[in-house]
Amino acid sequence: MRIVIKIGTSTLAHKTGRLNISRVEKLCKVISDLKNKGDEIILVSSGAIGMGVGKLMLPKKPDDIPTKQAAASVGQCELMYTYDKLFAEYNHTVAQILITGEDIEHKDRCNNFKNTVCRLLELNAIPIINENDTIATNEIVIGDNDTLGAIVATTINADLLIILSDIDGLFTADPHKDDNAVLLHTVKEITKEIEDMTGGTDSNLGTGGMITKINAAKIATKAGVDMIIANGSNPDILYEIMEGKDVGTRFIAGKI
Ligand code: GLU
Repeated sequence: MRIVIKIGTSTLAHKTGRLNISRVEKLCKVISDLKNKGDEIILVSSGAIGMGVGKLMLPKKPDDIPTKQAAASVGQCELMYTYDKLFAEYNHTVAQILITGEDIEHKDRCNNFKNTVCRLLELNAIPIINENDTIATNEIVIGDNDTLGAIVATTINADLLIILSDIDGLFTADPHKDDNAVLLHTVKEITKEIEDMTGGTDSNLGTGGMITKINAAKIATKAGVDMIIANGSNPDILYEIMEGKDVGTRFIAGKI
C-alpha cells in the first residue's frame, strides 16, 4: 500500500510547542515497522511553526506573518533533525520536501514533485513533506496540512490518506461539549449534515480543525483516495488501521 500519513502539531508537540519525545519516538518506530513490512510511506508533517515557537521560547503562537515564518524556519530544522535521528535508529532514510500551492498548480513543478517522491520511494527513503511556510504568501498558501495531505495523496496516487490528530475522528457533535456525541466510523458521502458537524480548531499551535479535515476528505475521496481521521496519541493505532480495524472515521472514496 502507498500511504500518506499526515501528522498534526498536536500529535508531535506538547502544548508548550516543545517536542513530545515519547510520542514521536513511538511514531517513528511504528512507521519504520510498517515500512519494513513493505508499505510505502509518505509523511506530511506539521510542527514547524509550533516547534519554532518552543525553540525561540515565544510565549504563544505569533499572529504576524514574519514571526510565523521565522518560527517555521527554525522549527523545520528541529523537525527534520528529530525525524532524521529517530528514523536512522531503525535504518531508514528521510528526505525533506517543502512545497507551496503554486508548485502544485504549476505543471512542470508538480511533475518534478511527483517524480521526486516516486524516486525516493523506489530508493526506499521516507519523503517528509511540509508547506514551505517561510515563502508562502496569501496568494500561494495552501494554509493547512490537512489540505496539503490530500493534495499530496491525490497527486502521487496514494491508496490511503491517514490524518493523525488529537481527536478520535468525526463526531456527531463536539465531544468536549456534548456527552451524547457519537463517533462516526464510516462516511460514505460528505453531505451538508456531515459538514455541519465540524467545529473550529481546538489546538493552540496547529492550524486546522475538523473543517480542514472535511475539506481534505472531499479532495481525497473525489480523486478516489480513502481517508481516515484517527487519534495519533497512541501511534499503535497505525497497526490497527493497517489491519482493517474499525478505528477513527473512514471517508470512503467515490468510485469514479
Ligand atoms: N505548515 C505548518 C507547520 O509546519 C502547519 C500547518 C498546519 O498545522 O496545518 O507548522
